[in-house]
Amino acid sequence: MERMQQVVGRARAAFSSGRCRSLEFRLQQLKNLERMVREKEKEILAALQSDLHKCGHNAYSHEVMGVLGELALAMENLPSWAAPQPVKKNLLTMRDEAYIYPEPLGVVLVIGAWNYPFMLVVQPLIGAIAAGGDLHGVWVCVGAMGGEKIARVGQPHWVCVLGNAVVVKPSEVSEHTSQLLADLLPQYLDEELYPVVTGGVPETTELLTQRFDHILYTGNTAVGKIVMAAAAKHLTPVTLELGGKSPCYIDGAVSYTHLDVYKRQGHEDVSGLLWAHRWQWGLEGAESPCCCRRITWGKYMNCGQTCIAPDYILCEPSIQSQVVENIKATLQEFYGEDVKKSPDYERIVNKRHFRRIVSLLEGQKIAHGGETDEASCFIAPTILTDVSAESKVMEEEIFGPVLPIVSVKGVDEAIEFINSREKPLALYVFSNDKKLIKRVISETSSGGMTANDVIMHSTVLDMPFGGVGNSGMGAYHGKHSFETFSHHRACLIKDLKMEGMNKLRYPPGSQKKLDW
Ligand code: NAD
Repeated sequence: MERMQQVVGRARAAFSSGRCRSLEFRLQQLKNLERMVREKEKEILAALQSDLHKCGHNAYSHEVMGVLGELALAMENLPSWAAPQPVKKNLLTMRDEAYIYPEPLGVVLVIGAWNYPFMLVVQPLIGAIAAGGDLHGVWVCVGAMGGEKIARVGQPHWVCVLGNAVVVKPSEVSEHTSQLLADLLPQYLDEELYPVVTGGVPETTELLTQRFDHILYTGNTAVGKIVMAAAAKHLTPVTLELGGKSPCYIDGAVSYTHLDVYKRQGHEDVSGLLWAHRWQWGLEGAESPCCCRRITWGKYMNCGQTCIAPDYILCEPSIQSQVVENIKATLQEFYGEDVKKSPDYERIVNKRHFRRIVSLLEGQKIAHGGETDEASCFIAPTILTDVSAESKVMEEEIFGPVLPIVSVKGVDEAIEFINSREKPLALYVFSNDKKLIKRVISETSSGGMTANDVIMHSTVLDMPFGGVGNSGMGAYHGKHSFETFSHHRACLIKDLKMEGMNKLRYPPGSQKKLDW
């Protein structure tokens, strides 16, 4: 307890000392972080290889690239994000300065999960360092009513800003990356402002007794509730980046309808007609290899241990076997004959998770895969067909390379199915019918969604990344991280002149004076 008190106490003292006052300081810390990622790339990739069997290419594209992208965006935009935002004024305040000033919250706690152990810690850290306004220069209001635009003029002449101090708690499950972060961050960043705490549940539990000004937690929903309960004791706001079962609906109707139509018209060999139709309209249904290739990529990357991986497929029974065939063909294309030998295929993080995932296969119809090896935590890419909505594999988030296919009669039933469950972190729909896509968006809810692809919405840094309901609260990425870790302070700056005007609001009879 004493150790955590000391760590947080030191971070708070550093925050209050004001040595990180300027925008320039925060930019410098972000530059240092970027230098760390570039100089220590080899070590970072090696730690990810040890924790999750990630090959260099996957580790770089899944984790390092995201962090570098986030850093570049923050460094480029920080001066404009940090600027006070002028607001519209009314008759009584038309002569005044009125703006929203983003101020840092104070000492922030970032708790990371193990599945993307580097990115899930460093990405929020970037936002927390960056957050806060810049009143460091001379700001003047210009434009109509004196406040439509605020411009920074002149050299900095006074100081009243601070970025957040951040206590970083990486996941103990990915121990190599956790230790690497503990070694590297103090070499590149201010040690007192940005301490790293390693350890497991006892350490996190102790840490959570301390008072923070914001907590961003990434992990499972059950622990999310523990974090929120601990935060409530100090009235600390939280961002909870949780998980859930992200559905993927494939609308096979388009091409099959045409097939049916052609068949009903008495055409025996419809392949030519279908080809001509596709060529003209670009129509592709569930049998499209491209649709299944995208699903296969998002489902089996990181061995299925991705919070926004498509958890299960919903489709009509008539296209199920075609979907299976196309996913099988893609798996062969991606990982070759022997997936175990593929450098692109990861492993389950530990034996506990391995056994949990294997237990989900019991009693299921395995259409593909199913091979496991406990010693190396290997589970082959697996597809389950004709899965009952009531089975165990459909109860909890799979978080592994197992893809159940559940039959629905069409989009109505798919929407009903999705809405009968907890709100997911992501939702995917594959269809050529834009109206159908919009209908799915408007009649369901999820943290985020992509149509005709998977995962990709999370790569657009201008979009908020977060859950809703059971999949989380709050969001981050890009400017949304800056907003999450800032308090938006309403500032009105008047002068002491023109007191006569204020008579309108002073008693006696202020109402009467306003009534004329
Ligand atoms: P985990 O086991 O690494 O736990 C996350 C953190 O919580 C760790 O730092 C750990 O020390 C701490 N923790 C664990 N148990 C605790 C307890 N009892 N009290 C206090 N702290 C505790 O990660 P996990 O929960 O296995 O992560 C997987 C889950 O996270 C999945 O549900 C996944 O969908 C979700 N996830 C969400 C996102 C997102 O951005 N929304 C990203 C990655 C993972």
